[in-house]
Amino acid sequence: MNEKKIVLASSNKGKLREVREILAGSELSVIPLSETGFTDEIEETGETFAENAFIKAETVAKALQLPVLGDDSGLEIDALGKEPGIRSARFMGRETPYSEKNAALLKKLEGVPDEKRTARFVCAMALVYPDGRSLQVQQTMEGRIGYEIKGENGFGYDPIFFLPEYGMTSAELSPEEKNAISHRGKALREMAALILEGEK
Ligand code: IMP
Repeated sequence: MNEKKIVLASSNKGKLREVREILAGSELSVIPLSETGFTDEIEETGETFAENAFIKAETVAKALQLPVLGDDSGLEIDALGKEPGIRSARFMGRETPYSEKNAALLKKLEGVPDEKRTARFVCAMALVYPDGRSLQVQQTMEGRIGYEIKGENGFGYDPIFFLPEYGMTSAELSPEEKNAISHRGKALREMAALILEGEK
């Protein structure tokens, strides 16, 4: 197989693990940012997931002169005006454990009935080539905010993200089950197809 390497412009371990799982068996493989020597802080100054995904990918692609995949994702909770949204990683501080962030969100939603607890994970991806060409995709996974923290799989807000059709949170799904339906799984499969199409 003719393997094609792309750099992932992220140091989030949960994302890296999922991206590798999703691309397993494909012609694409990812190099984590931590292995490239790139250490600059990238400021997420965009106002949308798509803008931030592009900023990350473009910054790193220019610096390394390699094809770079940027992923910007987050959780939109309708009852909170789509917060934490593009601020999902920064919500309550990057270093605050997700057990605390998740508990705080459940508290904010106290008294909010089922039908108003709708939420979605969003994942925007941008692939930027050193010559400036780019590809962009965006996908979502719809669900509801549950009433308790449940499940050990996934990362971040997965333990409070309830999927009514499965009767469990996305942290209770196996990695394979989550990747098959997740915002990141769908976006990455779409992106991989676009990249490989462009290679023909
Ligand atoms: P980013 O690194 O700025 O894209 O931040 C993404 C943040 O959104 C993560 O740190 C998580 O807080 C949240 N997030 C995105 N995707 C997921 C997911 O699949 N499960 C749980 N949390 C997620």
